[in-house]
Amino acid sequence: MRVLLMGPPGAGKGTQAKRLAEKFDMVHLSSGDILRVERGSGSELGLKLKSYMDAGELVPDEIVVDIMAKAIATQPAEKGLLLDGFPRTVPQADALDRQLADLGRPLEVVLVIDTPDDLLVERITGRRSCPDCGRAYHVAFLPSKDDGLCDSCGAELTQRADDTEEVVRERLSAYRAQTEPVIEYYADAGAQPVVTVDGGGKPDQVTDLAVAALATDESGC
Ligand code: ADP
Repeated sequence: MRVLLMGPPGAGKGTQAKRLAEKFDMVHLSSGDILRVERGSGSELGLKLKSYMDAGELVPDEIVVDIMAKAIATQPAEKGLLLDGFPRTVPQADALDRQLADLGRPLEVVLVIDTPDDLLVERITGRRSCPDCGRAYHVAFLPSKDDGLCDSCGAELTQRADDTEEVVRERLSAYRAQTEPVIEYYADAGAQPVVTVDGGGKPDQVTDLAVAALATDESGC
């Protein structure tokens, strides 16, 4: 199955993407993760990415399309694909659709995790993670046992540079202005169903809703 996962920052896309990719045997491609690796590499491109990402602004389309096209082209055709964070603008969606049509592997469903803004800010600003093993925490909803240290490996937890309240508000406004139109673009095109699930519940509840939505789509019901 080939799925585009959409939703505002903080909707829980990353958590759900990992679970859904495993369940439905899809490769999970997160543009945010891929860009963060490049950003951390110290390359010239990495420095350019940093200036956009740390401000909560979108990286220019031509850069992201190029990076993601390469990542998509190297995936095995027999596996499913779960795109998370890309496309985030209508021109990106257009470029992606052309690439997937050329590969003969078009998107089959667009899954939107919808979540109210006030919840998003609280979720994101409290988010922490372990720099060594990647385990995720939240200061209020999922704290580590030993204040600020990873329960698995003891490393000091870190916060993403763009997870501060000011930058989160900027990311939310970029989402509303530039990414929500992508949902409309796919709904208008009508080539695949656009399904929305409520992302306001606990992670397991959201997973249940998302799995049910994808399983229904897969069986064609
Ligand atoms: P979130 O969805 O929580 O904002 P991501 O990890 O998906 O976080 O993205 C982090 C940042 O990476 C974005 O704020 C943006 O600067 C950049 N980014 C990720 N994907 C894209 C994209 N498709 N187009 C432009 N910029 C992107």
